[in-house]
Amino acid sequence: MKRFTCDELVELTTAYLDFALDPAERDGVRAHLACCEGCRRYVEQLRASIRALGDPPPEKLPADVRDRLLSAFRERRRT
Ligand SMILES: [Zn+2]
Repeated sequence: MKRFTCDELVELTTAYLDFALDPAERDGVRAHLACCEGCRRYVEQLRASIRALGDPPPEKLPADVRDRLLSAFRERRRT
């Protein structure tokens, strides 16, 4: 199983939510989320944002939405 740092993980979350990861990566993401509350919250917010964009969701998460979530995530980790 792959192990990810928080920074690597947030880079993978959009692919994770698109089911675009290979099984080893997906397991690694799941394992990280199971023990990292910050990333878990980030993924939940990302998922909620994607849902808010409509159905069917756009191919790719708009860069501004992703940037906003990402900076909120980084902000929280600093405190
Ligand atoms: Zn993490």
